[in-house]
Amino acid sequence: MYIISSKNMLKKAQHQGFAVPAFNIHNLETLQVVVETAASLRSPVMLAGTPGTYRYGGVGSLIALTNALAQEHQIPLVLHLDHHEESEDIFNKVRAGIRSVMIDGSHFPFEENIAHVKAVTDFCHAYDVSIEAELGRLGGQEDDLIVDDKDSAYTSPDAAAEFVQRTSIDSLAVAIGTAHGLYTHEPRLDFARLEQIRNRVEVPLVLHGASGLTEADIQQCIRLGICKVNVATELKIAFADALKAYFRENPTANDPRHYMQPAKAAMKQVVTRIIGVCGSEDKL
Ligand SMILES: [Zn+2]
Repeated sequence: MYIISSKNMLKKAQHQGFAVPAFNIHNLETLQVVVETAASLRSPVMLAGTPGTYRYGGVGSLIALTNALAQEHQIPLVLHLDHHEESEDIFNKVRAGIRSVMIDGSHFPFEENIAHVKAVTDFCHAYDVSIEAELGRLGGQEDDLIVDDKDSAYTSPDAAAEFVQRTSIDSLAVAIGTAHGLYTHEPRLDFARLEQIRNRVEVPLVLHGASGLTEADIQQCIRLGICKVNVATELKIAFADALKAYFRENPTANDPRHYMQPAKAAMKQVVTRIIGVCGSEDKL
């Protein structure tokens, strides 16, 4: 098995001052692009899938593909559960071979979030599975969800310290002004808050919603303790735009081995750029 937990990968990033990029994948082609690019640049990498992605691709199929690609390219890979909420769903995927989990209880009140995360963490640690949780709440995830009280959405440094201590999680996703999806206006990141969290919390910190942030902002986050950078939307847009352009120019094309190539090439450019921004090249 080449599918590993993210614990040591993120610890190394923390000690050496870079971030591990986590790319959301959906199918054979997107997996191929991330793994081939990471292997050629000798970058540690995490392959992330939401519950919807695992429903689409199949848990067993995605695990088997990841394992095969890892062997083909001789690279250890993390296949990660992104924003999973249901305990039983997580337990089943861990039993199937997943070794890295994000349990998202950020929609719960603080005490319930702790209880929920602690129970899942205890299970995961028994299987040597690394676990990430989120405190605070990112906007942009659901169109009709509007959080207008700044502090109820952002991660509190004091609460973060208590949360990590009481749950024993391995990494913490923080809300410091990023959002999921596309930004409708330029995001303003709360770097001071990130620094305060970093000073109170020992585990590696995780940045969600990195699509659309400037390279300078991402790198400032990494300097202040971010060890994992999640990218999803940017990859989907690059892939889909190239695919659409190809079909506009080649309306009779019907061979996926041909029409997928420009889409994969466009996605590869984004993956390569993000690995550069994260400073993870040659860090395997
Ligand atoms: Zn996220």
